[in-house]
This record gives sequence, structure tokens and C-alpha cells, in this order.
Amino acid sequence: MNCRDGCGACCTAPSICSPIPGMPDGKPAGVRCVQLGDDNRCRIFGKPERPPFCGGLQPSEEMCGTSREQAIRWLDELERATAPAN
Ligand code: SF4
Ligand code: SF4
Repeated sequence: MNCRDGCGACCTAPSICSPIPGMPDGKPAGVRCVQLGDDNRCRIFGKPERPPFCGGLQPSEEMCGTSREQAIRWLDELERATAPAN
């Protein structure tokens, strides 16, 4: 499947541990990436400074669902399931 135009769920819900331009420590879960434009497109798509995590995240029916809300829910659950135990 292709990435849904204007979704941006996977640029908001997951935490990213590697540096992002403008977010040198990466980003916490649930926080919008600073590189996500108002149109919910990545401003640094295809550029070397885009974290490898982003390139590795491929759209799938399981993750993306049929709406941004569904994708956010799925990614939130994944985040909780993979968060390190304190
Ligand atoms: S959740 Fe899926 S559809 Fe939404 S931005 Fe990410 S890859 Fe694209
Ligand atoms: S760098 Fe781009 S693809 Fe990665 S989370 Fe930010 S906006 Fe999304």
C-alpha cells in the first residue's frame, strides 16, 4: 500500500531515538516531529539527515489502517508494547 496523503501518524505517535534536525535528542512518543509540515508531509524526505527509522517504516495495512486515527491508535499500542520497562 502507499502512504496516505496528509496522514503523518507515524511522524507523531512513535518515539524516535536518533537525532532529527531541530530535535537533536530525537522525539518522545506522541509529539509531532518538527520536520512534519503543516500539510503532514516530511520536510526532509529523501535527505540524508532524515533518521533511518523513518525510512525503515513502510506503510502497511496493519499499521496505517484506514484513517489517521486508526494508525495513531495502532502506533500508540506498539509504543506501549515496546517501551522499556522502568
Ligand atoms: S501511518 Fe501509514 S499512512 Fe500514515 S503517514 Fe505513516 S505510513 Fe503514511
Ligand atoms: S523526519 Fe520526516 S519522516 Fe521522520 S518523523 Fe520527522 S517528519 Fe516524519
